[in-house]
Amino acid sequence: MAAEQDRHESGSLTDRLLPYYRDVVAMHADDPAVGACLVCRLPRCEDWRFASERLLTSIDREAEPTMPASPRLQHGGDSS
Ligand SMILES: [Zn+2]
Repeated sequence: MAAEQDRHESGSLTDRLLPYYRDVVAMHADDPAVGACLVCRLPRCEDWRFASERLLTSIDREAEPTMPASPRLQHGGDSS
């Protein structure tokens, strides 16, 4: 019975955390006036780097299978 929970969570942990990471990135983004995170008072603070890294990695992974097919394939039937 507990296996159902596993199915539900497999692969979706990052999905659930994405909104949280977006919040962190927004909160810890460098303030243009100060040139640093307003929470940590550091430029590109650790929280910001960690969250934005996670965001980028998950976007990369999701983008891979949806890569557009090579347009050359559409010209395949023209060689007779
Ligand atoms: Zn910060």
